[in-house]
Amino acid sequence: MNTKILKINDNSLKLSKNIIESNELVAMPTETVYGLGGLATSDVAVEKIFKAKGRPSDNPLIVHVHKDYDFTKLVYVDHDYVYDLINAFMPGPLTLVMRHKGAVSKLVTCNLDTLAIRVPDHEGCQEFLKYLDLPIAAPSANVSKHTSPVTAEHVYDDLNGKIEVILDGGKCKGGIESTVLDVTKQVPVILRSGLVTAEMIKRVVGACEYVDNMADSEVVRSPGMKYVHYTPKCNTVLFERNELPLAQELYDKLLAKGKVPVFMCDDKVSHKLCGEKLQLGVSGEEIASNLYYKLLEGEKIADYLIAIKINTGSEVDVGVMNRLSKACKPFKREDYIDILGEL
Ligand code: AMP
Ligand code: MG
Repeated sequence: MNTKILKINDNSLKLSKNIIESNELVAMPTETVYGLGGLATSDVAVEKIFKAKGRPSDNPLIVHVHKDYDFTKLVYVDHDYVYDLINAFMPGPLTLVMRHKGAVSKLVTCNLDTLAIRVPDHEGCQEFLKYLDLPIAAPSANVSKHTSPVTAEHVYDDLNGKIEVILDGGKCKGGIESTVLDVTKQVPVILRSGLVTAEMIKRVVGACEYVDNMADSEVVRSPGMKYVHYTPKCNTVLFERNELPLAQELYDKLLAKGKVPVFMCDDKVSHKLCGEKLQLGVSGEEIASNLYYKLLEGEKIADYLIAIKINTGSEVDVGVMNRLSKACKPFKREDYIDILGEL
């Protein structure tokens, strides 16, 4: 199959509708990352999503709908605060987990009694979803475990030959996946952090909890969070902000051995490092927006990506660090004895 990257217009929308209605897949832009979309009511289509990505079958998918879609066809709204959240953040990078009515494929929900719903804030995506007027299951449009795509070309690099069409909506502005919020309880619970932060939710609802899905709990509330994620194809290492001299030493010694190391850091520390750098920016939002783009640039040019933890003081740092610490291996001296020597 020859994968085509198409601008969003009448022709590509018509073609994409045909593809979706034939239970095939279309990659679509959103404001967070690109999604790999298939008809949420079709077992056949949803199975193809898992297969194309190599995604573990116990990791449920988010269903995307346009802003005028009546999603009470799919889920129960258990608490009034949910309407306040919808007014405040939808369309936007917030996914709501609600009890479902059994209207979508069981493969979407992995047999859970809840379904995750999102209304993307991206003009082209809204146009596509409106044109279809159907619920679209869509995980990020990358091969499982790899860094999520934020351009149509990134999708092509991972899924060329596996899908017919990538709708090109430019570079995603948000840059990290949506906040996933369980709203089945009296108090909403963040299952995955993102650009809609706990403080923003508290300001609307009054309270908000956060589940650390990386803890070795028996029941993982957001199944996706237990998996390795976001990893670029080169070697990676993540340093604390107070370890810059050590990061520099590693860089210099790798270079001396003929390797290609590249730093990845925010603009506040970049002037303290000497060498090739991928700079992420200054504010939490800017860094989120650049994170995957720079990770994917890094894997193309570097043997070793030497990343420095982020701390801008912004609440968005939680979401950024959640991704960065899964994308990059924490620095351990024993991994680099041959390069750095014993202490
Ligand atoms: P991705 O599709 O890779 O952006 O990941 C979707 C995220 O939403 C994963 O972390 C899933 O575990 C989570 N998710 C999807 N559906 C549910 C659900 N019904 N309950 C809890 N978490 C969910
Ligand atoms: Mg993903």
